[in-house]
Amino acid sequence: MVAVSLACVFAATEGGVAAEESSLVIERCTLFDSQRGELLPERTIVIRGELITAVLGPDDKIEIPAGAKRIDGKGKFAIPGLIDAHVHLVHVLDFAHVTGDEVLPLYLAAGVTSVRSTGDEIVAATLVARFAAAHPQSSPRVFTCSPLLDADPPIHKDIGRGITDPAKIPAVLDEMLRWNVSTVKIYAGTGRDVGKVIIDEGHRRKLFVTAHLGRYSAQHAVADGIDGLEHIWSVFNYVIPAEVAGQPGHRGKLDLDNPICKELITELARRKVMVDPTLAVFRNMILLSDVPEVSGHPDNALAPRRLREFWPVYLKQTGCPQGGPLEDRRREFAKFQELAGKLYRAGVPLLVGTDAPEPQVSPGFSLHQELEMLVESGLPPAAALKAATMHNAAALRQEERLGAISPGKLADIVLLSANPLADIKNTRRIELVIRGGQVCQPAELLKLVPKD
Ligand SMILES: [Zn+2]
Repeated sequence: MVAVSLACVFAATEGGVAAEESSLVIERCTLFDSQRGELLPERTIVIRGELITAVLGPDDKIEIPAGAKRIDGKGKFAIPGLIDAHVHLVHVLDFAHVTGDEVLPLYLAAGVTSVRSTGDEIVAATLVARFAAAHPQSSPRVFTCSPLLDADPPIHKDIGRGITDPAKIPAVLDEMLRWNVSTVKIYAGTGRDVGKVIIDEGHRRKLFVTAHLGRYSAQHAVADGIDGLEHIWSVFNYVIPAEVAGQPGHRGKLDLDNPICKELITELARRKVMVDPTLAVFRNMILLSDVPEVSGHPDNALAPRRLREFWPVYLKQTGCPQGGPLEDRRREFAKFQELAGKLYRAGVPLLVGTDAPEPQVSPGFSLHQELEMLVESGLPPAAALKAATMHNAAALRQEERLGAISPGKLADIVLLSANPLADIKNTRRIELVIRGGQVCQPAELLKLVPKD
C-alpha cells in the first residue's frame, strides 16, 4: 500500500519521534472561527499528535516545538474538517457491488474528515467503521447509526428493520448501544405509538434520535422530543387538523404561508430540533436528475465506475425524477430552498448532509454542492460552514472533540487557498487536509479510489 503512505504523512516522523507525539505548526493562516462564524487573521495553529494544543494570535509569543513540521499558512484559510451529516456506507453501494471502504478516500480528499451514517445494515456498517478507524490515513471518522426503524416489512429491505411492538424497543436499542451507534433513526413507516417509545428509550441511552418522517407527523415527533429531522420533506410532514381543515385531518402540502407550517418552524427553533435538509439528493436524484448540469456534474466522475453505472439504473427503479414537467419540478425545488432559508432565519439549527451515494450524489464532494445550495437558499457562507462543522459535530455529540479549531480539539483541519466567506465555492480549493494531525494530499487520496 505504497500509495496510502504517500497520501498522508505523519508530521515529523523523520526525526524518529513517535507519530503520536509529533508536532505540526500551521503558521500565520486566516482561521475560520466556527463558533462566532468569522475569520481571524494571522493565527498560528500548534498540533501535537492528534490534538490542537494552541491557537496563537499575531501578538502572542510563538514557540515552535523542536522537530515540528512547519506549514506556511500565509494567504491560506484554515477551516475545521467538514462533516457530512447524512451518508450511507452500505445502502446503494451494496446494489452497485461497491464496498464502503472503497469510497472512503473520496470523503477525505473533499475535506470531509467525519461522516455520520444515517441508517445502514449494522454488521456491514460496523465493518466499514472499523476499516476507517484502522486506516486513518485514507478515511474520515465514521459514526454509525441503527438500521432504519420502520414498519414491518420495512421499506428498504437491505437496511431497514421492522418494529411494530413498542415493548421490543428497549432490547433493540440496547443492542444498538453494543454496536456503538451514535444515532438512532426512525423511518417513514413508523407511527407515533412506536416512534415516541424510540425517542424516549433513545434518550435514556443518550442517543441522538432522528427521523425521516412519514406516518409520524412532524408536529407529533417534535412534541415528543425528536432531536433531528432528515430531509426537508420531514419538515412539511405536518398534519392539518380536522378543526382547521373543516374536514378529517390530512397531510399538509408544502405551503410556507400556512399558519400550521409557520407554527411548526417556530417550534423547531424553540426546541432546537436539528434539521438536515439534504438538498443534494432532492436536486440530483429526486427532482432534477435529468438536468444536464446535474447528470454531467464533474463531481460525479470521481466515483467508481460501478457506482456511476448503477445510478441511472436506480433512478429508473425508483421512478426519478418525480413530480411532472421540468418547470414544476424546478418550482418545487425552489420552494425547498426557500424553506431552508426560512428555517435558518427562524433560528432552527441546520445540519449539512447529502445522502451520498444516492444517484448523482457523489461521496465526498457533494458536500460542497450542499454548501453551495444552502448559500443559494439564503444562508451566509459563514452560517453554512458553521452548520457543516459545529452543528454537525453537535449532532454526533462530538462538540468537545470536533467542529472547531481550538485547543483540546482533534486536529481535523482543511487548508484552503481562497476565502470561503467571499465565495462558498472556495471550500473546494483545498491545499491540504489534516486528519488527526496527519497531513493528507487530496490528489494522492483520489488515486486510492478505484476507477472501476
Ligand atoms: Zn439517507
